[in-house]
Amino acid sequence: MKDHKNMKFATKAIHGGLEPDSATGAVMTPIYQTSTYVQEGVGNHKGYAYSRTSNPTRDALEKNIAVLENGKFGACFGSGLAAIDCLIKMLNPGDEVVSTNDLYGGSYRIFKTIFEKYGIKFHFISMNDVNQIKAILNANTKLIWVETPTNPMMNIVDIEAISKIAKANNILLAVDNTFATPYLQNPLDLGADIVMHSATKYLGGHSDVVMGVLVCNNENIAKEIYRIQNSSGAICGPQDSFLVLRGIKTLHLRVQRHCENGEKIAHFLETHPKIDKVYWPGLKSHPNHEIAKKQMRGFGGMISFSLIGNKMEDAHAVLNKVQLFMLAESLGGVESLIGHPATMTHAAIPKEEREKIGVVDSLIRISVGVEDANDLIADLENALN
Ligand SMILES: *Cc1c(COP(=O)(O)O)cnc(C)c1O
Repeated sequence: MKDHKNMKFATKAIHGGLEPDSATGAVMTPIYQTSTYVQEGVGNHKGYAYSRTSNPTRDALEKNIAVLENGKFGACFGSGLAAIDCLIKMLNPGDEVVSTNDLYGGSYRIFKTIFEKYGIKFHFISMNDVNQIKAILNANTKLIWVETPTNPMMNIVDIEAISKIAKANNILLAVDNTFATPYLQNPLDLGADIVMHSATKYLGGHSDVVMGVLVCNNENIAKEIYRIQNSSGAICGPQDSFLVLRGIKTLHLRVQRHCENGEKIAHFLETHPKIDKVYWPGLKSHPNHEIAKKQMRGFGGMISFSLIGNKMEDAHAVLNKVQLFMLAESLGGVESLIGHPATMTHAAIPKEEREKIGVVDSLIRISVGVEDANDLIADLENALN
């Protein structure tokens, strides 16, 4: 086995948790497109009995992602929401969850419309001031759910500060690390118990797969995750596992370019006369810039901005005018995407709620890809004018 402890990130992305195929020596993990495995005698098999429980291609990916997050155990699911579904199923009726109020619309929807029905209560609060979390905790609080950077406002939540509160109160801390990627931020190192990813985004990186991930270090938590993964069955298939394994091999290269392009575009937007506010954690004007510098190794390619005058029509005009930026849901692929949170990703959140957190009618979110930054800037410039 390779020693991961001393590997740098780029080496982990390519070798972490991976061994050549034991059956054939194949360097690339084969796609084990099989549901079942022959047994030499009753109960005598090679570690694989049925592919819902485990599959060699998925196993390889789970080990690889665990290494990237400096965790011991990884579990992969059919989508990011399926991963969240598994995580919340660790709780019981009567339990309470404290969550960031500015979060992925689908996470809000599964909490409110699926799990509240089963007696789990969710509190959505701003985590800019960690003392607000303390005020809301009670004996039933079992989980703190953090998304950072948040979607779409790019707020940065201080993971280490919250982990201290969680530990002092015996509460699990889970972090949705989708926007940051393990290349920029490792929540387990900052005291989180569980890291979640929508691998659909940067981990896959090529907009060709939908997948979710959980990573943890604690064996008891891992056992629960694997028990629910197998019992509820929301696994990902071997083909998709292969695609994400392949995507991860260039994660560090892609995210470096996402960061460089993000920086150039954030600075362009900041000085443009038609732009009101720019939300990118690398800007000195960002309210959580100092926390971002402390817990992240770069600031990523996700940027939101609002327009002077705050008109929905103006935002729609920009979205219709861009040519390189594609109007689409999702993020984190090599191609640049543009979206309108109020009518797209955050449509599930009532208008009143979304405006409270800053998702105003003219807010535009971009996922900056790895194209040439000058071409992207020219495209935005043209659409804004
Ligand atoms: C996309 C996304 C999810 C949900 O993941 P899916 O793969 O679409 O199910 C959760 N959190 C964040 C931050 C996301 O961007």
